[in-house]
Amino acid sequence: MPASVAIVGAGPVGLLLANLLGRRGVPLRVLEKQPQPYPLPRAIHFDGEAMRCFQAAGLAEAILPHTHVGKGMLFQDGAGRTLVDWSRDQQIGLMGWYESYRFYQPGLEAVLREGLKRFDWVTLEPGREVVGLAQSGAGVTLSLADGDAVEAGFAIGCDGAQSVLRDALGIGMTDLGFHERWLVVDLRLTRPRDDLGDYSIQFCDPEAPATYVRGVGDRRRWEMRLEDGAPDRPDAAEVWRRLARWITPQDADLERSAVYTFRSRIASAWRRGRCLLAGDAAHQMPPFMGQGMCAGVRDAANLWWKLTAVLNGAPDDLLDSYQSEREANVRAFIEKSVALGRLINQTAAGAVPQGRMASIWPDLGPGLGPRDGVGGGLVPQVRLASGALADDTAEHGFYVLARAGTAVDGWHCVDGADGWLADRDLDGVVVRPDGYCLAGFRSSTDLTKIADQFAALGLSAAPGSASDTA
Ligand SMILES: Cc1cc2nc3c(=O)[nH]c(=O)nc-3n(C[C@H](O)[C@H](O)[C@H](O)COP(=O)(O)OP(=O)(O)OC[C@H]3O[C@@H](n4cnc5c(N)ncnc54)[C@H](O)[C@@H]3O)c2cc1C
Repeated sequence: MPASVAIVGAGPVGLLLANLLGRRGVPLRVLEKQPQPYPLPRAIHFDGEAMRCFQAAGLAEAILPHTHVGKGMLFQDGAGRTLVDWSRDQQIGLMGWYESYRFYQPGLEAVLREGLKRFDWVTLEPGREVVGLAQSGAGVTLSLADGDAVEAGFAIGCDGAQSVLRDALGIGMTDLGFHERWLVVDLRLTRPRDDLGDYSIQFCDPEAPATYVRGVGDRRRWEMRLEDGAPDRPDAAEVWRRLARWITPQDADLERSAVYTFRSRIASAWRRGRCLLAGDAAHQMPPFMGQGMCAGVRDAANLWWKLTAVLNGAPDDLLDSYQSEREANVRAFIEKSVALGRLINQTAAGAVPQGRMASIWPDLGPGLGPRDGVGGGLVPQVRLASGALADDTAEHGFYVLARAGTAVDGWHCVDGADGWLADRDLDGVVVRPDGYCLAGFRSSTDLTKIADQFAALGLSAAPGSASDTA
């Protein structure tokens, strides 16, 4: 029997999407061209919203041991003076998690792979490279390099920046203008170097911009922009020469070094019929905010419940809201990442604004519900008196978050976040499975209207109508 969904690519985005769909009982196959998991990290930071998405997959607790709470990032000039301070709160934040985590990517991916073993209806197929596709109104046929063919109701290209699915669909990329070659070096300390500190540091130097990142445990990373003509494969001696101002072989072992071209690009279409793109296949950004993978995590969180609803009979134009909602959000991160990249390159010209920087939480673009400053924005996740997190109590379905004492019928309702709701002059909000607001309400009549619109979309609310109090 054909799978409902075939996911192409078992990177962090494909694996998370598979876990989210698997948890809802969707039969699916994950096709990954590499026979073995990639053993080295690329991403090193994710945010509290991403952790909320891992929570939706039931895996946050298993991921925690592979993380370290992030202190934030400092932008420093050549004399070591802090120009911009992007400190992160060291308390649990609005998402129900810390604002920033450092993590070890192979550890995270191992948890995501292990998570799939919970579902008999999900298969992970390593060593299976997709080379082409054909689709009809009823489904998609993927052709594989080994001559086999895989049929599915929908195919999701989570196959990275060089996406074969994107090319097979004839979808181009819009280039947003950033291309720089950077050398990325991962090290393991062999003796304490507390002086390096826990903050990430952007060394703002137009001649030699660089980044230091404190990883989990004894792991440390440096990223250094390469000048034109620098080799693509520097040898170990050359790598240590470039690191010498911070660290020497007496302090650390080299784990790996690689040269990447950091780009800012976005696919012109994220859906063609029964094929959709997610993660780096749909967008890429330079890593100065540590948001590339986070953006893919948000794609997976936006897509899983829409896909599940369509597979259960909702009209399939629900899937058109995927790109319209996600693209505006990811563009905001790409633009900010590019601006930070330029800033790191420009300081000697005295162009750097000084002060504190805050994290951004951009709203979704047009899609489901209103865009009135509340609908399409992130909703806080409260922890209940029982210790449970609100999204878990709603089993990651739609639910209402309301001020204490608000009468709510027909929805799973959590009382809490009174201050946040009062600031917006709201009695409550309808929370989507991805943590964004479907719509806010100021009266029971408003909530009835939202319920009618919600039913017309073919969606269903969280099971039960129990109330919980934070
Ligand atoms: C140096 C660096 C630092 C970064 N730091 C951060 C950070 O701190 N935080 C952050 O959020 N992001 C960061 N990023 C970005 C992040 O690594 C990517 O956004 C993320 O890995 C994308 O995940 P993905 O699953 O979409 O794609 P990928 O990780 O590229 O996975 C794609 C998968 O698809 C498979 N595949 C490809 N083609 C096929 C095919 N034809 N058939 C079957 N399988 C196929 C590949 O083998 C691979 O396993 C960084 C990136 C770099 C380069």
